[in-house]
Amino acid sequence: MELFRLTIAEASGLISKKELTPSDLLESVFDRIGALNTSVGAYITVTKDIAVEQSGRLLTGNRGNNPLYGVPIAVKDNMCVKGVRTTCASKILENFIPPYESTVTSKLQEAGYILTGKTNLDEFAMGSSTENSGFFTTKNPLDITRAPGGSSGGSAAAVAADMCIAAIGSDTGGSIRQPASFCGVVGLKPTYGLVSRFGLVAFASSLDQIGPITKTVEDAAIVLNVIAGGDFRDSTSAHIDIPDYTASLQSDLSGMKVGIPEEYFIDGMDKEVETAVRAAITEMKRLGAEVVSIRLPHTAYAVAAYYIIATSEASSNLARYDGVKYGMRVSGSDLIGTYMETRAKGFGQEVKRRIMLGTYALSSGYYDAYYKKAQQVRTLIKRDFDEAFKLVDVIATPTSPTTAFKIGEKTDDPLQMYLSDIFTISVNLAGAPAISIPCGFASSGLPVGLQLIGRHFDEATILRAAHAYERAAGWYERRPSI
Ligand code: GLN
Repeated sequence: MELFRLTIAEASGLISKKELTPSDLLESVFDRIGALNTSVGAYITVTKDIAVEQSGRLLTGNRGNNPLYGVPIAVKDNMCVKGVRTTCASKILENFIPPYESTVTSKLQEAGYILTGKTNLDEFAMGSSTENSGFFTTKNPLDITRAPGGSSGGSAAAVAADMCIAAIGSDTGGSIRQPASFCGVVGLKPTYGLVSRFGLVAFASSLDQIGPITKTVEDAAIVLNVIAGGDFRDSTSAHIDIPDYTASLQSDLSGMKVGIPEEYFIDGMDKEVETAVRAAITEMKRLGAEVVSIRLPHTAYAVAAYYIIATSEASSNLARYDGVKYGMRVSGSDLIGTYMETRAKGFGQEVKRRIMLGTYALSSGYYDAYYKKAQQVRTLIKRDFDEAFKLVDVIATPTSPTTAFKIGEKTDDPLQMYLSDIFTISVNLAGAPAISIPCGFASSGLPVGLQLIGRHFDEATILRAAHAYERAAGWYERRPSI
């Protein structure tokens, strides 16, 4: 058996029955990384030494209630793991070694995970293709001439190519769901506040959220069980009771109302994407769901509002990289010169573009016209969802208007790149949870993603819907032949 192909549920089952040891699984996954990382470029840093040490420590303990005991998991390189280089795919943090651990990775650690390494992303998570990485572009393992999506492209590619059993990503405007869709895997963005952001390098703090990228919906529920929960070190995290998300997974959808928003089936959407998503909706009906047409009338303003809010918050968050406190330093003739030289050399094009946009939007005289207006639009978008969720339990849409595009296809036109998140961005503005799961393949052989959006803190319902559909449709069984 090729052990690297296992899901979390399968691996843990075998480990608990003592039919598999964490070290055999680890060796298999690292062999796979060794064989593929040069061509796929999923990882910036591979941490085999740490993994061997973690697995050694597991030998002295026992599996107990540790749901990730011995499971090799990759972490996007914008989350701090104490003592392990955390670059955010930026030259400015190229040699940054965090002296502290993010809450998410410390929870994974307590659950017995094995760290495989830190995955590639668009610099500071700004992008939709990983082409904005300061180091190299990750390739889509299903077709290496294509982008894996982004910004969590390294994590999604690592899961799709079985270079880990599961991965962690972050999603500010679609960065977990869109790459999951492009790579044919499952990606869950939890409700804003469900998972602590402590130790996540901030991009846009009111939108950022950490979540799992996995091979199956069940695995996403297993990881969410581990990482969800309030944290005194993140004042925006919610202190609520966390259910057992795996308990909500059932095989039928009776009694569930699924809303289909007209605004998400737009001109310009790839026909094959539309066909696959509509077929998935039909399948959900067959499983017992009631399908209802709904409206989300402010959808058309989401991308514009997002790019004001996200860039404003980014310009403020990225002010800390000044060559003085930590990270890269390029000395100039005086203090201001050092700031300027460091930031000029340390940041890439896209990051600079966003700092400029955000600084402009926040400047006095423009603040009311841009930032305040965008926040008002955000409220309207959230109200759209509140109204819709009075009628339905889940909203079904495509995750992205296209399948994975070619590497280089959109790099010269930032607006085209920004539009690839048109279906995911509103969800972040509203703070709602959403999952992307495979719902078929285009004639090119590339996967299509179905997005299921839920009420705030109702991850259980979207996981239930996603799991029932996944098991009935069976797309998860069609793994890339690499
Ligand atoms: N692609 C979007 C952006 O460039 C979203 C990125 C993300 O979710 N981190 O901002």
